[in-house]
Amino acid sequence: MTTATTTDVEPALQLPPAKLFIGGEWVDGSGGTFASENPATEETLCEVAAASAADADAAVAAAHQALDGEWGKTSPRDRGKLLWKIADALEARTEEFARIETSDNGKPIFESRYVDVPAAVDALRYFAGWADKVHGDTFSVAGPFSMAYTLREPMGVVAAITPWNFPIIQAMWKIAPALACGNAVVLKPASNTPLTALKFAELASETGLPPGALNVVPGSGSQVGRRLVEHPDVAKISFTGSTEVGKGLMKDAAETIKRVTLELGGKSPNIVFADADLDAAVKGAYNGIFYGKGEVCAAGSRLFVEKRVHDEMLEKLVERTARLVPGDPQHPKTKLGALVSSEQRESVLGYVEIGKQEGAEVAHGGVAADVNGKGYFMQPTILTGVDNQMKVAQEEIFGPVLVTIPFEEPGEVVELANNSIFGLAAGVWTRDIGKAHAVAAKLKAGTVWINQYNWYDSGAPFGGYKQSGFGRELGSAALDYYTETKTVWVGK
Ligand code: NAD
Repeated sequence: MTTATTTDVEPALQLPPAKLFIGGEWVDGSGGTFASENPATEETLCEVAAASAADADAAVAAAHQALDGEWGKTSPRDRGKLLWKIADALEARTEEFARIETSDNGKPIFESRYVDVPAAVDALRYFAGWADKVHGDTFSVAGPFSMAYTLREPMGVVAAITPWNFPIIQAMWKIAPALACGNAVVLKPASNTPLTALKFAELASETGLPPGALNVVPGSGSQVGRRLVEHPDVAKISFTGSTEVGKGLMKDAAETIKRVTLELGGKSPNIVFADADLDAAVKGAYNGIFYGKGEVCAAGSRLFVEKRVHDEMLEKLVERTARLVPGDPQHPKTKLGALVSSEQRESVLGYVEIGKQEGAEVAHGGVAADVNGKGYFMQPTILTGVDNQMKVAQEEIFGPVLVTIPFEEPGEVVELANNSIFGLAAGVWTRDIGKAHAVAAKLKAGTVWINQYNWYDSGAPFGGYKQSGFGRELGSAALDYYTETKTVWVGK
């Protein structure tokens, strides 16, 4: 039996059973086990049971049973009430979830406590409100018919596949709308960070979610994830992860013409014009890249600054960044935690080296950081002398590394900003509101922030243009991706 063991952090983490959650039961996986590591201490938090392809099949079967049973018979209004109750239960245990999220991912506790868990609660409440408001229309139609009407039906079994950077948030952005619309869910969390998803399954079940409505199967992406994508009885894949995996997934999903939404990578431009409030822009650029250790899909990782203010902005930014000291993520004052894994830190530091070879200069950081001799910390990093064609300006680094690129005028910067395979998000800083709207309209990005960066709300849709994916999460837009529309014709 695989049992969760805690580290010597005090008070002890209240870890969930580190097994698979299928049909309302904790079961041992048949795919072996893997260690869930605390990236700040390098300690193993627990050994987690890994699902096999056969376990994925069992989870899909349990989800179908739920749709045929109690969960499928639950009225939309009662689904909403239940989601709201689950939100209350999660909110009441914010601290427990936050500490586990921070231990599993390395993000500062202030983020987990004040952003990640509250955002998950908010998504549950937002979609709880929609549960009994998803409805069709009636149409007057020609021919021997009195009318036609549409029904908005659940799709069936939704497989949610999530990354490691915002584990509880990404899971809830999928689970909440999927359940609100009456689907059953099989969630495969990222192997680096499976614990809050398991804990959430426990909490939802204790709060009254019927067995099989939510199943969680940790395990390898290429086996468990892939099996879910290929499974003929899975109606829809809601995927958040890298563009590379998303491409393969789309091919695999084609075989069964599966509904797919993809939330993928980014290399988002953050554009500062000379007429901006420079201090606000410095703060926005800093938060845009260093919040979440830069392991943020929408991170403002390409900073374009109008030449006239470039040097002044850079000086202020470096000065602010120099005060950002990596530290113990469990400490309430820490603002920069540990990268999620040793491999991730190696990859990010590798990009810094590539940047240097390409001719970039390190204005700050660029190296690993020592925090008590353990953990995968690195210094916040700013690279200057970067050209938009360089690898460090084109590829997603997914760490606390900012590249800065000077520009001359708005036409040039829009072209540079759009010169990317990605199109997830962008920022525009200017006091000229006309220019702000004009530039926002021209940017090929799913989200544009004006005079702010990195803000989200459950009510506002989020998703990508170009190779950053398709489909939208959050907002009423998300409901379209968890329902099928059926047209019913009524004879005279
Ligand atoms: P990843 O693509 O490596 O893995 C994501 C998930 O897919 C994991 O659960 C993984 O196990 C699974 N997976 C891997 N291979 C699979 C396969 N063949 N079939 C099915 N599932 C498979 O991504 P990651 O390293 O966990 O996360 C970082 C990436 O996620 C970054 O590129 C980041 O930009 C992206 N991301 C995007 C958004 C967004 O909303 N657009 C949000 C967060 C993260």
